[in-house]
Amino acid sequence: MIDPTSMVNRPAPGRECGTCALCCKVYEVPAVESRAGTWCRHCLPGRGCGIHETRPQHCRAFFCLWMTQDFLGPEWKPDRARFVLTMDPATRWLFVQVDPGAAQAWRKDPYLGQLKRWAAAGDRPVIVFVNKVATAIMAHGEIPLGEIAADERLALRDLPGGRRTLEKVSRASA
Ligand code: SF4
Ligand code: SF4
Repeated sequence: MIDPTSMVNRPAPGRECGTCALCCKVYEVPAVESRAGTWCRHCLPGRGCGIHETRPQHCRAFFCLWMTQDFLGPEWKPDRARFVLTMDPATRWLFVQVDPGAAQAWRKDPYLGQLKRWAAAGDRPVIVFVNKVATAIMAHGEIPLGEIAADERLALRDLPGGRRTLEKVSRASA
């Protein structure tokens, strides 16, 4: 089980990116003008970063959950799963950033079933992004959220009956 209290930001023993470079495709990296969903122009897919020695701090500091959590098996390695898992240590929300070249990969076995179990077990959302378009997996089902603008954030809202929903709100209202 993913345990945010034991999260570390360093690779678990034996974990290496190897031929994976999916985080260099799915995320926006402003320091190198890389847009989400397209390979960073410095990426040499299968071979790593073409500017490894001078890559931005953002890149140096990043390790996906597969790298840091060794209970995630080989099927969760991003270049095989076709998505990158991360967790916000403050909110404990799990994020799934999907390769837009395989936008439905997260719906396949064993992924969707496990994502639902994580959402239910922690009573916290799992947010799936394909570029900027989000879908929340909640304990009680999925919520399509559409595109999340830069000036928006996601917030939980309590519903009658003890259920919760997730909605987009303006960052200005934070
Ligand atoms: S997605 Fe994870 S395993 Fe793949 S290159 Fe990035 S940090 Fe390494
Ligand atoms: S600069 Fe290097 S590590 Fe950073 S996103 Fe581009 S290819 Fe990946």
